[in-house]
Amino acid sequence: MVQSSLLEPLPTRKRVAVLLPLPFPYPLEYVVPAGLSDSLAPGDVVVVPLGARRETGVVWEQTTLPPELTPPPPPEIASTRLRPVKEKLDLPPVPRALRQFIDWVAAYTLAPPGMVLAMALRSHMRGTQGAPAAGWVRGEDPPATLRMTPSRKAVLGALGETPMTTAALSEKAGAGAAVIRGLADAGVLRSVLMAAPSPFAVPDAGHRLPVLEGEQDFAARELRARVAERAFSVTLLEGVTGSGKTEIYLEAVAECLAAGRQALVLLPEIALSAQWMDRFTKRFGARPAVWHSEIGQRARRLTWNACADGSARVVVGARSALFLPFRDPGLVIVDEEHEAIFKQEEGVMYNARDMAIVRARLAGAPAVLVSATPSLETLNNAETGRYRHLVLPSRHGGASMPETRLIDMREAPPPKGQFLSPVLVEAVKSTLARGEQAMLFLNRRGYAPLTLCRKCGHRMECPNCTSWLVEHRKRRVLCCHYCEYVTPVPETCPACEAEHSLTAIGPGIERITEESGEAFPEARILVMASDTISGPAATAEAVAKISRREVDLIIGTQIVAKGWHFPHLTLVGVVDADLGLGGADLRAGERTMQLLHQVGGRAGRAEAPGEVLLQSFAPDHPVMQALISGDFAAFMAEEAEQRRPGFWPPFGRLAALIISSESADAAQNAARALGRAAPYGEGIEVMGPVPAPLAILRGRHRQRLLLRTQRTIAVQPILRRWLAEVPLTSAVRVDVDVDPVSF
Ligand code: ADP
Ligand code: ZN
Repeated sequence: MVQSSLLEPLPTRKRVAVLLPLPFPYPLEYVVPAGLSDSLAPGDVVVVPLGARRETGVVWEQTTLPPELTPPPPPEIASTRLRPVKEKLDLPPVPRALRQFIDWVAAYTLAPPGMVLAMALRSHMRGTQGAPAAGWVRGEDPPATLRMTPSRKAVLGALGETPMTTAALSEKAGAGAAVIRGLADAGVLRSVLMAAPSPFAVPDAGHRLPVLEGEQDFAARELRARVAERAFSVTLLEGVTGSGKTEIYLEAVAECLAAGRQALVLLPEIALSAQWMDRFTKRFGARPAVWHSEIGQRARRLTWNACADGSARVVVGARSALFLPFRDPGLVIVDEEHEAIFKQEEGVMYNARDMAIVRARLAGAPAVLVSATPSLETLNNAETGRYRHLVLPSRHGGASMPETRLIDMREAPPPKGQFLSPVLVEAVKSTLARGEQAMLFLNRRGYAPLTLCRKCGHRMECPNCTSWLVEHRKRRVLCCHYCEYVTPVPETCPACEAEHSLTAIGPGIERITEESGEAFPEARILVMASDTISGPAATAEAVAKISRREVDLIIGTQIVAKGWHFPHLTLVGVVDADLGLGGADLRAGERTMQLLHQVGGRAGRAEAPGEVLLQSFAPDHPVMQALISGDFAAFMAEEAEQRRPGFWPPFGRLAALIISSESADAAQNAARALGRAAPYGEGIEVMGPVPAPLAILRGRHRQRLLLRTQRTIAVQPILRRWLAEVPLTSAVRVDVDVDPVSF
């Protein structure tokens, strides 16, 4: 070994670090073979050996991170032990700004950088090899050796002048895809990229300008000025629902387009944004590029490339759109910034709202956070001057805010076994009688959240999770909403074997729909929940039906709370306003207030005034009082005062360790070991271990430790040292959640 390495002229062996989409703590090193020595640069996509496998990765270089985020350097490895890079792939390189962002997200969340890369480049790195041919045209004449079967002849006969997809060709010829494949292998068919109309037409920045006056005009000017500065800044655009926030941030987008730069808009639920898309299209005369988990492989690759070459001018997307390789990003917008959905809760646990700000900072571009009910973090940043703050206090065009009233469920309860109080039923009836639309909101899918035996009290629980099974009556099953467990509703109680003794307790929207069918027999009812309306097309259709007034009563879960504009909707009834306030989560009040305000904001967005009715058993609760008075600033100030003394976010920093194992003992022992090694010091505190909020999830037992520090102390170095100190067995997994959304 030693001898052979002495034979090599050491200095000429150029090394490169290659980040692989795998959970290694750092990029792995390789040597550059002679053939590639001049052509490999950071960002290039390469194939390297790993054990007996070949892996695709990206040539990496250390980017600079703030000191507290910088991970320890990888161990030194002698060049002689390194293996050579196999080949460089013909794919657009990963730009420097994106590599830097990937390093940042990894360092901040303590995720292995390769896992962030894997998430960022899911479609990109699969490579072009084996990519489906876009369309078929005639290639060479059939060779003499190829037997021309009837189906092969049919395929050639069906082929026209313009390229045809496999599906189209196979249908027209009445032959299977295998026949087409065979002809392609023989060279008789040739694949070409089909010319498709570009989805990335340049929006017309001057199209159909709304007339902005007063506060709207001021806010739009401010945002345009930020874009024109071409420098990093963060602005909070706060305004009640219907005040014109979207209209105003589209002004900033227009400014960004006029400057020739790219704009990114993050929306909480991109699949649901058909209305947003229409509005954008009307405003700019072109569609934006769209990015979310449901777009196809081909669209992904096109969009990725179009971002990299700058031809995608506006991208609207879900959180993962942050990882697109923008060539010249000039604006980053986060709409509904308070939404918890921006936090990814699995794999790399990052908050897209916060990382959007990092992305903007690395790009030297302004970020705009938009909300009617900003999170306490964001409000605090605005109050302390870290963010600029623009406020739109009233609805556009004189539309008034809906009047919010409480229905005290202790005083006027619904008849036994029902969930709509007489007051709410009457209000819905008179709304429908006026020819207006009403909405009933309940954030719970299925028929009933709990099924129990009337004889023995047995509760139907998930065998894999600490949760009750939810009855879905239409499908005649009990489902766990945390794992995929589904079982038919049993005829007899599994505990005492009594027959027909199982009873549904509490309402889900299926049950509210049943009750509404009886209370409002004439009404045309539309149910909107993620399991009844799935995918963008179905959602768009549902929304269109509502706009066309083909629906009288909408019954929905949180889907209906999104930023929809339903001009004929004047009444929103919240079936259980207290739902979500239970439990020990410190953020429950803030979140309930945000959700219910958002739902209520759907009412009365046009001429007819709106009304919101909240059914509550706790009408004195601060959340209910805030919803009635509309004084969110006072509510949030009160929240702040509760969190400030204990250094709870945003006044301190928080990280959770979730220790999980299939064995309860293993999880507990590991959690205790981590607890014993807990960091300490001035301004540092560790709480737990205690069973995590879902103590068993998908068959894994979960314990939680919470690290809380004062704001001036970064949690990452503390966590890194802590985790390095406690060796764990492979039966135990520790997930680190920096800035958990609930605590
Ligand atoms: P928000 O995003 O704050 O809920 P929107 O931007 O959706 O508010 O505005 C609510 C409605 O009012 C939309 O239909 C919007 O087109 C309209 N609107 C807002 N401002 C103007 C304006 N200056 N001129 C014309 N229409 C406006
Ligand atoms: Zn379960």
